[in-house]
Amino acid sequence: MQRRDFIKNTVLTTGAIAFGSCKEKDPYAEREYKGQIAIIGAGAAGLYAGYLLEEKKANYVIYEASDQIGGRIRSLKGFADFDIELGAEKIYGDRSVWYDWAKESGASFIPNNTTDFYQVGSQLLSESQAGSNNDVKAALAVAQQALNYTGADMTLLQLMESAKLAPGVRYITEALVAAKNGTSANRLSVLGVAEQRLARSAGEGEFSLANRSLSAVLEEKCKNVIPKVVLNTQIKRIDYSNQRIMLEDAQAQRRYVDKVILTVPLSVLQSTDLQFTPALPDTKIASIKGIGMGTGIKVVLVFNQRFWDASADSIYTAGVVPEYSASSNGRSTKSFVLTGTVMGEKAEALSALSTSAAIQSLLKDLDGLYGKGVAMGSLTNARLMDWGKDPFIKGAYSYPIVGGGGLLNRQTLSAPVQRRLYFAGEATHYGGHSGTVHGAMESGRRVVEELYRDVT
Ligand SMILES: Cc1cc2nc3c(=O)[nH]c(=O)nc-3n(C[C@H](O)[C@H](O)[C@H](O)COP(=O)(O)OP(=O)(O)OC[C@H]3O[C@@H](n4cnc5c(N)ncnc54)[C@H](O)[C@@H]3O)c2cc1C
Repeated sequence: MQRRDFIKNTVLTTGAIAFGSCKEKDPYAEREYKGQIAIIGAGAAGLYAGYLLEEKKANYVIYEASDQIGGRIRSLKGFADFDIELGAEKIYGDRSVWYDWAKESGASFIPNNTTDFYQVGSQLLSESQAGSNNDVKAALAVAQQALNYTGADMTLLQLMESAKLAPGVRYITEALVAAKNGTSANRLSVLGVAEQRLARSAGEGEFSLANRSLSAVLEEKCKNVIPKVVLNTQIKRIDYSNQRIMLEDAQAQRRYVDKVILTVPLSVLQSTDLQFTPALPDTKIASIKGIGMGTGIKVVLVFNQRFWDASADSIYTAGVVPEYSASSNGRSTKSFVLTGTVMGEKAEALSALSTSAAIQSLLKDLDGLYGKGVAMGSLTNARLMDWGKDPFIKGAYSYPIVGGGGLLNRQTLSAPVQRRLYFAGEATHYGGHSGTVHGAMESGRRVVEELYRDVT
């Protein structure tokens, strides 16, 4: 196995979860519930919970704050001759309902015969060239060390410093470990990363769809659920002090239901956007604070020529964008698209710039690598998706922080309140699949099971 595959597989392999695989049989198949259920949020967790409730012929409705379904699965249409993913892009692991859904919907996967490139100084080295560079080798070794870490908790930055990694290649470790986990090296707990990796069990590999977007898969599989989604309905207050739970939206319209499945992003729970009466238990509030979530940016750059290597998969750069994906490879021969992912501190700095200044800074970096004016002169279109600025998402995805309590803390976050409020969404996954689509879906399954377990 090549070093890249080794790292990638180790970083990203996922699987059936410790607390109940997606494919497990429904333990409460015989139970009926006739009360009114409200799901808050129409992302992967909310839609999959709806999908399972639909199968059970339950009485449910989904309230979604924005004007579209999908949450952090969102694709940009009409920008190139294929739909470009602005959020989730890859399917991690081959043992999940999400993977099965993609296959069932007729999606084909892009063959994994590509190469990564790493910036060293002002040069780009291919994977095989980088294999004989000692600094790159050290950066990859520290990434590996982080994934298997068992010592006292520390940040990835502290681990890189203690390993005396050359400053010029630290960005590689940071891109492979911190950015993949949704943040920067100074904020990520290495113990948390290693713990999540150990818990994962969704199978091998990572898969990109060649002929359709993730939104298209979700829309097709959830076609019976989508009519139950009420868009443009931001729930601002949940009053569960009486027998029926009152939900108040941003227009002060009230609804009364019996049970609530919450799937809003962790960042929404961390904000004051959603109020609970009575306040959530102290343990729940502490668990919300024990997990990190910060901004993340996806940048889409469309060019009139391909100036990067035809075999490129990821291009790791020391500049503003740690990792570019050659998104058009395997999807189009007419459009030439690079998408860059930026997380944590670097995303905050980029977010502070105007869109045109941000794009200019990226093009300058690319010109530095590929030749003066090469990127600048061939750009035809650009889009910057700043997830931290999305009013209902407010960030990228959750990550473990030092002293945050790890998976046990996520389990506390996931615990129902009064057998009436159920907590789903990627951040509540305590089997190592947080920050993923299949993890969000598995949390949707968990809450439906909890809800029916509580039906007497
Ligand atoms: C840039 C980026 C890249 C990613 N890449 C990958 C990847 O390659 N592979 C992968 O598996 N995962 C990836 N992820 C993570 C993945 O997208 C998420 O883990 C998953 O989609 C989260 O689903 P969810 O249902 O938990 O939350 P969301 O999708 O965020 O859904 C929550 C919904 O709640 C709504 N909402 C918020 N507040 C309210 C309210 N008060 N009332 C009503 N509705 C509300 C929101 O609008 C949203 O639609 C990526 C994420 C980002 C941002």
